[in-house]
Amino acid sequence: MRNILFVISGPSGVGKGTMVARLASGDDMIFSVSCTTRAPREGEQDGVHYFFLTEREFLAHVAAGDFLEYDNHFGNYYGTLRSFVEEKLKESSVILDLDVVGALNLKRAYPEAVLVMLLPPDKEALKQRLIHRHSETAGQIDIRLARVDYELSLKDKFDYTVLNDDVEEAEKELREIFLQERKRA
Ligand code: 5GP
Repeated sequence: MRNILFVISGPSGVGKGTMVARLASGDDMIFSVSCTTRAPREGEQDGVHYFFLTEREFLAHVAAGDFLEYDNHFGNYYGTLRSFVEEKLKESSVILDLDVVGALNLKRAYPEAVLVMLLPPDKEALKQRLIHRHSETAGQIDIRLARVDYELSLKDKFDYTVLNDDVEEAEKELREIFLQERKRA
């Protein structure tokens, strides 16, 4: 079986982080630790959840061409280090948690990456998740929700879409896709 880049994407609040943590808890995929300039949230560790960089450090990586893809959303930079991904891919498949635009940019750099868009049951469910995780202000939530329609409009560009209504069902479906893609020559 081949090692693949398995990208989990979707609108903010759809549950990408939880799903990726579940999928990466086994030993068949390694989580791609992204770089970001946003501040760590409670419980987040440098080098585990993200590499937390200053804007200056981040832009130095951009200038050096170190990112497979990077983006600025909600005022912060996020990027995937080419060296990290290529190193891990030698030993294992790699799972990435990327926003929708980042996922499509990654596919341009790495056409064999497998892109999945997680879909929310409805917009209200998204809003409730964003409110309950208490990590954004009301203003930030409004900005994230305003992007949702645009992000969902890009779903046909993804290899797969998976409805994240029931977490266990969605995880099962994602594991099936992952195995099927690894078996493909
Ligand atoms: P958060 O700040 O909630 O951790 O993440 C905000 C958004 O950034 C999420 O949609 C997440 O998927 C996305 N993200 C995380 N890492 C990367 C990355 O390396 N590149 C891009 N383009 N988006 C990322």
